[in-house]
Amino acid sequence: MEGRYSALDTALEQLRIAAEKLELDTGIHEMLKYPKRTLVVSINIRMDDGSIKTFTGCRVQHNDARGPFKGGIRYHPDVTLDEVTALAMWMTWKCAVVDIPYGGAKGGVCCNPKEMSMGELERLTRRYISLIFDLIGPYRDVPAPDVYTDAQTMAWIMDTYSQMKGYSIPECVTGKPLSVGGSEGRAEATSLGVMFCVREAAKLLGLKMKNAQMVVQGFGNVGWNAAKIAYDWGCKIIGVSDSSGGIYCPEGLNPYKVYQHKTKTGSVVDFEQCKNLTNEELLELECDILVPAALENQITKTNAANIKAKIIAEGANGPTTPEADKMLNEKGVLLVPDILANSGGVTVSYFEWVQNLTREHWTLEEVNQKLENKIVKAFNDVYKTSEDEEEPMRTAALMLGVGRVAEAIRTLGLWP
Ligand code: GLU
Repeated sequence: MEGRYSALDTALEQLRIAAEKLELDTGIHEMLKYPKRTLVVSINIRMDDGSIKTFTGCRVQHNDARGPFKGGIRYHPDVTLDEVTALAMWMTWKCAVVDIPYGGAKGGVCCNPKEMSMGELERLTRRYISLIFDLIGPYRDVPAPDVYTDAQTMAWIMDTYSQMKGYSIPECVTGKPLSVGGSEGRAEATSLGVMFCVREAAKLLGLKMKNAQMVVQGFGNVGWNAAKIAYDWGCKIIGVSDSSGGIYCPEGLNPYKVYQHKTKTGSVVDFEQCKNLTNEELLELECDILVPAALENQITKTNAANIKAKIIAEGANGPTTPEADKMLNEKGVLLVPDILANSGGVTVSYFEWVQNLTREHWTLEEVNQKLENKIVKAFNDVYKTSEDEEEPMRTAALMLGVGRVAEAIRTLGLWP
């Protein structure tokens, strides 16, 4: 691995750049480098074979100047405290960029969900929530899905929290199934937001969406739904991948069929009439649009020079290192940064929370229209800042996000 850029190195370097451009008060810059609160927990659960296993988990609350903490929970074997800290910081900027009244947090459990049964995952989730119980709540910190957690995980969270309180509290978590207070459109929201950003970016370049060649790295919730929406909009999906590898088909592939293939075989690899390739090769394919929707640190100084996409829309959090950012910018790539591109997920999480608090249920059309308004407004805000400041979209988004958080901190003042 090049440079050994950790997610936290990336996040801190991005904050440094924004602080410099904003001429941010050094005290506020220092404050924003660290999370407000971190809790590390040992999650002991009974495995199906009767043995007891201990997993390490954490919840990191970065900043809540603009509202309650908000952010997903990730289950992954590579989860570290540094990574979750970076992800929590990105949530703070993301909520500020898309202008929803939340701060930023993230949770993580170091485990391999692919090797665990539903029963084990349920016990892990419930025990983890019982351990971070004092930190979370509808007005404190509202969890949501992230890598390898889904609507079912959120239902277990709602139930555990509600059982411990003694009454039903749907607004304590977002990304829930529809049957227990979830919002229409939440599952596709991140990807729809990504595609609204791609559409706006394409307009700027005079690129038509019809037949635009798109490559998607990652075929989880974000990658698969982005490929599906793009396909429905007439884009040509020429390559997709997951953690096992990628597939390439210059004539364009049907993501619905790839999804079926992955459901059957466990991976996108070996899909009919496609050429198999590595994740590294996939990122370097000739294409119009590249959507990294997997993990951090995918576009680095090692491969940035070989990236051929005209538009990159970051479905994942932190897929590009600061060194790669510079190289892509010099090449003239239009990069829509994570804190803007994937903010659709937390935006519809916010809509879900509002619906829960007001005991309302909005239609899919309402949700998607409100989402489009929010994302297009945020895109234009970031683009305008980028033009005014003559900075790339990433720096502009960070300036906007960090600037709004700093403004809230100044307005609240320091207690005591
Ligand atoms: N995990 C998602 C993200 O990184 C969603 C967070 C949320 O909905 O709170 O933005």
